[in-house]
Amino acid sequence: MTIERDQNRNLDELLRRCVGCGLCLPHCATWVATGNEVHSPRGRLLLLEDLLTDYSRDSEAAFAEAFELCIGCRACETACPSGVPFSLLEYGQDLTSANFTRSSSFISLLNRWLDSAVFLKILRASGSLARTALRRTFGSNWRRRLDEAPLGGDGLVRLLGSMPTGFRKDRDLMAEMDRLMGHSAGSLVPAVPFREPDRDVILFRGCTNDGLMPDSTRRLEEILEALGCRIHPLAEQQCCGALAAHTGRPGKAARLQRANLQALDAHETGDFPVVVEAAGCGLHLKDYGESMQSRITDATILLDSLSWPQMRELPLRVVYHDPCHALHGQGIHHQPRSLLSRIPGLVLVEPREAEVCCGSGGAWGLNHPELSQRLSRSKAKNLAATGADLVVTSNPGCLGQINDGLAMEAPHLPIIPLTDLLWFACFTRKA
Ligand code: SF4
Ligand code: SF4
Repeated sequence: MTIERDQNRNLDELLRRCVGCGLCLPHCATWVATGNEVHSPRGRLLLLEDLLTDYSRDSEAAFAEAFELCIGCRACETACPSGVPFSLLEYGQDLTSANFTRSSSFISLLNRWLDSAVFLKILRASGSLARTALRRTFGSNWRRRLDEAPLGGDGLVRLLGSMPTGFRKDRDLMAEMDRLMGHSAGSLVPAVPFREPDRDVILFRGCTNDGLMPDSTRRLEEILEALGCRIHPLAEQQCCGALAAHTGRPGKAARLQRANLQALDAHETGDFPVVVEAAGCGLHLKDYGESMQSRITDATILLDSLSWPQMRELPLRVVYHDPCHALHGQGIHHQPRSLLSRIPGLVLVEPREAEVCCGSGGAWGLNHPELSQRLSRSKAKNLAATGADLVVTSNPGCLGQINDGLAMEAPHLPIIPLTDLLWFACFTRKA
């Protein structure tokens, strides 16, 4: 590892901003899970300083381990009163990426395919069959039983448990909502526009949404069209490149970025906003360059800016989980809550440690399964402690990760995409 200190002249100034107060520690998922200073933002910054001041093989090894374990959730940046930027930790992560280690060859292989929507579609179909078989063999609490009596293949079981999936058929989503409310919601209103189209948008689907949860994306499209958006497809879109960038493949990330920018340039779309469902994709797309910063719009921000019709009453306690790349990466906090507050009868509750990462982190959870599972279970406990009837979130990675935690800690508590709940409140009416 070589440190190009002269090329980063403001590193000293940024490092000096850390006054060692420790206020970031309770917000850092890896510190919360391990209690180890080395796995806290403050500990990582000290290691970075050590490495830059007095490089040695020993300091390199400690440094690589600490930075590889950083989820990149950015909660420390939000919490820090001294303005220590996440870019310092990102710099440390970039230094370690050449030495990126993976837990097994199976996971290593998986990392390379996870940004392919075709692979994810195959994974979805085979995963769904495997989950059905496990449910039939071990019962509805198969995830917990396999965790308590490991039979080997833990990585595969965890992958199956944390794979984000949604309701394929509208009627299954409606049946789940009826079950939660204890009565029939009524019938589905046809997805006709509530208002004439008056704005143009491009929808960036993202490979995870497209591959694993296409029906939730379709429901989002129905909401947007009903609320007056003309959606322009971007058929040539590729994965945003976030997964490649976070698993030590900068070349592939750069290729994907070029392909997406070319697709946008080639498209006769003017400067229409690019609406993004998954917060992780949105944050990465904003990093493409200045022009994209203002153009990328998280779906919750667009939805909250639209005029909504009267929604149906939902007498439920609902807890919203903030994806880190929305809350810490893009400062999105108010909009999802504002959307939920439009639903009559819905009571919004807030969990403990809302700002702490759920332990998904894209491919991070697959590379660190034991720690990731600890975090998903802790997140599930905090969500269940609110007494909520339903969890909603707006990022597929968080949805799968929390689903896995809930399967072990609170199997009675379902989690669905925020947009599925909004769709249900919009398009069902009492018979
Ligand atoms: S909150 Fe900021 S200043 Fe305090 S220890 Fe953490 S990084 Fe340093
Ligand atoms: S980015 Fe997240 S995991 Fe990494 S140091 Fe900051 S709070 Fe901890």
